[in-house]
Amino acid sequence: MEYYSRQINQLIDEFSALPGIGSKTAQRLAFYILGQPKEKALALADAIKEAREHVRYCKTCFALTDAEQCPICASSERDHSTIMVVENTRDMAAYEKTGRYNGVYHVLHGAISPMLGIGPADIKLKELIKRLEGDVHEVIISTNASLEGETTAMYISKLIKPAGIRVTRIASGVPVGGDLEYIDEVTLLRALEGRVEL
Ligand code: ZN
Repeated sequence: MEYYSRQINQLIDEFSALPGIGSKTAQRLAFYILGQPKEKALALADAIKEAREHVRYCKTCFALTDAEQCPICASSERDHSTIMVVENTRDMAAYEKTGRYNGVYHVLHGAISPMLGIGPADIKLKELIKRLEGDVHEVIISTNASLEGETTAMYISKLIKPAGIRVTRIASGVPVGGDLEYIDEVTLLRALEGRVEL
């Protein structure tokens, strides 16, 4: 027997499809939303719609942005010859929060994982290689300290070192398996300053 109406079930289904949301949490969220004043619930729906319709990849670094180029790639104040490679836009935001990195970024949107069947062609890797045709002095690999992050770092370094471009890896001190976005700014800065040649 169905306890809930079709619309409620649909809402619960949508929430359960989100990462880290089990069916119990999905039900709790659905009923929370339905218990909110109509304007508040619709504001959430609007925010999702607005973001999804206007946010896209920066044509240069592939960060999520609302313009053709993100503000960092578009800025003449930034050092465009230093590219930091990160797994996702949140990692980029974490480095931006330190306010001490003046280069630009490249967002891979994932990491190589043979176990999950994610290969080099599934992330924005050839787009990175393409950028190296320009005037690039250093590529700082800031993928996570997880198995996938390390595999990706090795792969990238082997790929671009022959081109004679300096390749560095952020220092350990970033805990193994740690997601960059959860690490505090001091640790991030220390990792960046202590980066090692690959
Ligand atoms: Zn960009």
